[in-house]
Amino acid sequence: MSRVVLQCSICGNEIDPHSAKLHKLDPCGLYIITNILEDDDDKRLEQAFYCHYQCIKGALSGPGSLNLEDQDLEEG
Ligand SMILES: [Zn+2]
Repeated sequence: MSRVVLQCSICGNEIDPHSAKLHKLDPCGLYIITNILEDDDDKRLEQAFYCHYQCIKGALSGPGSLNLEDQDLEEG
């Protein structure tokens, strides 16, 4: 069975989902949508990336721009 390797799109390092060092919200998926103000769906493109929570948090400017760790996860 092959091992799935996730690579952080920001720092470039591997994201090991079994590592004890990971943030409680890792691994994260980061989505980009181009031309977000276009009414026509055909003019938008989407791409998904993997990243560490702390990496995307550090890449965003402005205090409080990413505060998901303060929210509760719903128990399923
Ligand atoms: Zn990273």
